[in-house]
Amino acid sequence: MTRQLVLASGNPGKLAELSALLSGLDVALQPQAAFAVAEADEPFPTFVENALAKARHASFHTGLPALADDSGLCVDALGGLPGVRSARFAPEVAGGRAAQDAANNALLLQQLRGSQARTARFIAVVVALRHAADPQPLIVQGELTGQIAHAAQGEGGFGYDPLFVLADGRTLAQCDAHEKNRISHRGQALRALLPLLQSQWGWAAAAP
Ligand code: IMP
Repeated sequence: MTRQLVLASGNPGKLAELSALLSGLDVALQPQAAFAVAEADEPFPTFVENALAKARHASFHTGLPALADDSGLCVDALGGLPGVRSARFAPEVAGGRAAQDAANNALLLQQLRGSQARTARFIAVVVALRHAADPQPLIVQGELTGQIAHAAQGEGGFGYDPLFVLADGRTLAQCDAHEKNRISHRGQALRALLPLLQSQWGWAAAAP
């Protein structure tokens, strides 16, 4: 039986990555917008609190098990910013998600102008709840370290990917989707979650 899992996000980049990462299980991942659920507030200072709030909100409004990812970029020279504010680092701009990503990236480059200290990490905390009052959420996390580039490079991915330089000198936006999922913070978190969905929730692997 294919399980329904609602994703507590309207970010198409996350939906694509998480769907691919869940393909080993017999699960249909549906964005919360398919159930007319609005984005939840993310008022907390930690990824884990925001991920729990988002998953609970989605599960409450759909009556389905829910998955939430709260993620962001933490830049050492900026004391961990943009952190939980990553999606809205720059003041809000018109033009949708791509325009906001471009404004966020421009602000990050501006704040690091002239700085040689450019180390950073992507963090993802992923939470799964069976129902809104589930007292035993599954909580996993992943982390990817890198450097912030001096200029954007690459067309793939989303968000800060064109500015995030890996050890081999490429940005995450220069990796294909499969490669990004193999190394990314979100990929690491999901690989920790899959066995828990099987052992704790009894969810089955996808048919071969
Ligand atoms: P959230 O929806 O509050 O979790 O916001 C996550 C934000 O962090 C995104 O909108 C991006 O700005 C940034 N982010 C998280 N993961 C990634 C990634 O894999 N690549 C690039 N940016 C990311």
